[in-house]
Amino acid sequence: MNLVDTHIHSEGRSVEDLRFMADNGISKAITCAFYPIKPRFPETLMDLFRKLTEYEPERAEKAGMKLYSAVGIHPRCIPENWMKVLDFIAEYSGYTAIGEIGLENAGDEEKEVLMAQLKLAKKLDIPCIIHTPKKNKKPILEKTIEILERISFPEDLALIDHVSVDTVEIVLNKEYWAGITIQPGKLSVEEALSIIDEYGDERLIANSDAGFSESDTLAVKKLYEECKNEDVTRKNAEKFFSI
Ligand SMILES: [Zn+2]
Repeated sequence: MNLVDTHIHSEGRSVEDLRFMADNGISKAITCAFYPIKPRFPETLMDLFRKLTEYEPERAEKAGMKLYSAVGIHPRCIPENWMKVLDFIAEYSGYTAIGEIGLENAGDEEKEVLMAQLKLAKKLDIPCIIHTPKKNKKPILEKTIEILERISFPEDLALIDHVSVDTVEIVLNKEYWAGITIQPGKLSVEEALSIIDEYGDERLIANSDAGFSESDTLAVKKLYEECKNEDVTRKNAEKFFSI
């Protein structure tokens, strides 16, 4: 099957979970940067990025999975002196994307951090995984798009993640890629299928967001079994991330 799960947090999962995914055909995944408590120091994130690029792919490989890494400052994980983290990312290598980044409450600091990371990604010509929150998803998506447009961020480098039945159209109309996350509290397999039916598969990319909290590690496989759509469950991801 060789499916791709484009948004997991491998650190929150055991090697058994990763093996279970690989044994079920999810042979590639992207692990996204997130720190479950607000980091006090920029160095906390720097070491996290080293772990995500140096250690996690090795752990996944033993489980039969090819793991790629995304590094970046999640809006709930902004430390003091966050600029130092950006300098680190600019100098660092070994990652496939910047993520997950985005807005949670859309305060001034969050906006500043998002804009700085997008500018860096544009300069580096690297794809971004851009989170949208559970609460106020639509107004915060609009603020996110405002920032993307203000810096003329290339549409082809932006995967706007965790779209809902209500926000997917806005994302696709602006010609960004849309991440459909199948997870309790986000989309069900049925809702994901209805989105594919209504909007086509050209710019949709599936993921599970399996990490620190309750999720279905086989979400992408379950979607594939229902629709047999290889674009949404593999090919679009391979194209977007060049993997
Ligand atoms: Zn996530």
